[in-house]
Amino acid sequence: MADATVSEVENFSYIQLPGAKNASLWNYFAFKSTDGKTICNEGRDKPNVYCRIAACSKPAMQYYGNTTNMMRHLQMLHPKENAKYLGRNMTTTAANRLTFFLKKDAVAD
Ligand SMILES: [Zn+2]
Repeated sequence: MADATVSEVENFSYIQLPGAKNASLWNYFAFKSTDGKTICNEGRDKPNVYCRIAACSKPAMQYYGNTTNMMRHLQMLHPKENAKYLGRNMTTTAANRLTFFLKKDAVAD
């Protein structure tokens, strides 16, 4: 059994994912880094990604290599920022999918 004790990272800064495609989503999230360049996983298998929105009640979430958790986090906890994000990205798959579901529901018998 692995030792579950995770020591606190004390001297860290927040860094963005290098080369992230979805820059407007990454405005709201960042990783912890101890050297300002590399992502610190704080002793976990996967690093945590942190919500940077002020007064977030649950800023830490596991990062699985995609933005699904982050988009869900915005939807659930920050509807205002989510609307801003979606408004800025009307051609993203998320927005397209939503439109698709709305249309599908509308024509469903
Ligand atoms: Zn948040």
